[in-house]
Amino acid sequence: MNIQNSECSSIMKYLFNLVIFISILSSCFGQTISTTNKIKHYVEKAERYLDFKKALSTYYSVDERGISVFANPKDKINNKPEYYCSWDSIERLRLPNRLNKDTTKSLLGYKIAIDAGHTAGNIASGKIEQKFIRFKQPNNNGKVDSIELDEGELTYATSVLLKKKLEDKGAEVLLTRKFNGATSFGISFDGWLRCSFKNAVDSLYKISKINEEKRNWLLTKATKRDKFKLVFKDIELQKRAEVINQFHPDFTIIIHFNVDETNTGWTKPTKKDFNMAFVGGAFMKSDLLTSEKRFSFFHLLVSDDLENSIQLSSQVIRSFETTLSVKTAGINDAKYLKEGCLPTSKNGVFCRNLQLTRYVHSPLVYGETLYQDNIEECVLLNKETDKTKNTRIMKVANAYFIGVMNYVLKKATANDN
Ligand SMILES: [Zn+2]
Repeated sequence: MNIQNSECSSIMKYLFNLVIFISILSSCFGQTISTTNKIKHYVEKAERYLDFKKALSTYYSVDERGISVFANPKDKINNKPEYYCSWDSIERLRLPNRLNKDTTKSLLGYKIAIDAGHTAGNIASGKIEQKFIRFKQPNNNGKVDSIELDEGELTYATSVLLKKKLEDKGAEVLLTRKFNGATSFGISFDGWLRCSFKNAVDSLYKISKINEEKRNWLLTKATKRDKFKLVFKDIELQKRAEVINQFHPDFTIIIHFNVDETNTGWTKPTKKDFNMAFVGGAFMKSDLLTSEKRFSFFHLLVSDDLENSIQLSSQVIRSFETTLSVKTAGINDAKYLKEGCLPTSKNGVFCRNLQLTRYVHSPLVYGETLYQDNIEECVLLNKETDKTKNTRIMKVANAYFIGVMNYVLKKATANDN
């Protein structure tokens, strides 16, 4: 009996150890599979959306430990990451889902930022920022210069109309530009020139971005256009990203109107007309030269902002096509799409490394609706001095609104399942 008992006890012990061994083995194996899948997913994400020429693999790594970004290829060899996130931290980044709100029918609790592209509030300022079209139509009842559009006015009017629609659904909405002709500094470009231009030039000089000769030239000889292009434009875009990020929106809508890039000079109409939308990504080596830019790369890779941006943009693009009856652009419809963008899985949505798609830290849609220089669009957009009363602009605002609502509804439904 004792022997039997002893045998029995040994067998039990053996079985017990076997169960433990198998469970440890399966848990290790499960973990390996899960990590392997994660590595595969993020490598594919980087190659498909972020690494434009498939030339950045020496700047990042995706391995058993997590995701790292390096300041240069040498640091990768020496395993000295500039930014690093473990798999556990990446999992935690995804919780809680910011779009898991209580109801699908209202936007109560949502924070939405709207950025109306450019700064012009009239044709004169549109000329300074080179975002205007003027068509002379001498046969149009003897009227000349009968088409005059500046993009800043169109985007601002769209943003005001869209803000109202979103607020009516309960959302808290931030406009980066507070009035027609405003910059994100809360004043016009002329106001900024008076108050801040000299300080901005001095700051650039202090951080050695410009030399003394350039500083003096900017302060004494530069034209208004030079000042806009060489000093104001970048600083103002940075300010937009800053204002948006401080607001911590659930998502951001960046509004632009497009033109036919081959219609250079924009003195006559074109027959082309397309919609498209941009999200972040498509980095080149030169886009990883600063720590700030490398952080943007890292942020887009580890967060799910890019995936959400593609979903949001896809809904907006679909709505553009149906609401505005304008086709969605394919990659061959513009040179800059083919040469500077990566296509996503969604029609008309392209990864493009623009200042705002890079620095805004939320899901976003960078919408480029219809061509202002299209032969029919220009006539429609030219109507009404107050562009918030223009029916084409109203349709554009509605198209964004429908796209946003569809996105929110889809996310909420996905969360329920
Ligand atoms: Zn624009």
